[in-house]
Amino acid sequence: MKEISLYVHIPFCKSKCWYCDFPSFCGKDNLMESYIEALGKEIKDKALIYNIKTIFIGGGTPTYLSLDRLKELKEHMDKLNLSSNVEFTVECNPGTLEEEKLKVLKSMGVNRLSIGLQAYQNSLLKNIGRIHTIEEFLKNYELARKIGFENINIDLMFGLPNQNLEQWRESIIKIAQLNPEHISAYSLILEEDTKFYDFYRKGSLNVPGEDVEREMYKELLLILNDFGYKQYEISNFAKEGKECKHNLVYWNMGEYLGVGSSSASYIESTRYKNVETIEEYIKGISKSNEAYGEVHRNSLKEDIEEFMFMGLRKIEGIKEDEFLNRFGKNIDSYYKKIIHKHTAEGLLNRDNGNIRFTAKGIELSNYILSDFLLD
Ligand code: SF4
Repeated sequence: MKEISLYVHIPFCKSKCWYCDFPSFCGKDNLMESYIEALGKEIKDKALIYNIKTIFIGGGTPTYLSLDRLKELKEHMDKLNLSSNVEFTVECNPGTLEEEKLKVLKSMGVNRLSIGLQAYQNSLLKNIGRIHTIEEFLKNYELARKIGFENINIDLMFGLPNQNLEQWRESIIKIAQLNPEHISAYSLILEEDTKFYDFYRKGSLNVPGEDVEREMYKELLLILNDFGYKQYEISNFAKEGKECKHNLVYWNMGEYLGVGSSSASYIESTRYKNVETIEEYIKGISKSNEAYGEVHRNSLKEDIEEFMFMGLRKIEGIKEDEFLNRFGKNIDSYYKKIIHKHTAEGLLNRDNGNIRFTAKGIELSNYILSDFLLD
């Protein structure tokens, strides 16, 4: 049986955070039952032919599902063929976790939780439209540990409106002191169609400047290093051996199957994307067992570009051997000039068959990556 990774999308949220442009919806709880039913059909139809090596149930807020819906989801997930050492992550938000739900997740085989905290200050949480408090987070975290979750990620955000360097330091230190196995930290990006974008256009969003943001990122690296976290990707840090295997599949351009509305798959150089809305998804699956919005066969050029874009996000960068194995040609036959230019500028390092960003290169990663687009 072929090995693959599985992503399961749960598009429901209790309310919409002000920065969020993810395909998640609030006020659609009445669709939960038929959504899980459709998901079950899609899993049965597409996932049972594989051996699943990693699973990520993301969203939305998977733990916003009611207890009964979670139990139904478990019944569908129980049918999968899992590798013996499967990494099984569920995304959750504080305020939606309770003992019964955590126990259902545990019995489903979930062995990794990813908790969206974002900031340690209640005032900041409120300012970004999060519905939870730090106290709820701490209670949920403790409960998850008590129930036996030994691999936990916590998400943080920096560059938030009215966030200062001191608050950011406090967030990192307080979280590192809790000793989760993994920490992700992303800077705020203003996306169209979000509340924040409107505020920004009206001039009423007070976000830290680029210099402060750069300083925040530097602090993140220093503090997490002191606490024994190893940076293995631009925004991801882990204790020894606790890197997220599922996300590494994306960064290594491995194959994955996505099920649920707006989920994406990459199989045999083809990208599939399901329709975005919950209603269209349910309709598509119940009518024809399919809900594709887009299907695109990658060209060789696209595969190479994506391999570079994703692979360079990893701190270890990309392996020249792997490039040769995948694409049948030496990396220099595509990128000799570009690699030479950026190594000379001190933005890329090339040694022992690896090509990776330098610390300065990480700061300018967007500029460098744009050079890896092929004509
Ligand atoms: S909980 Fe996550 S998915 Fe839901 S609105 Fe907030 S950021 Fe978006």
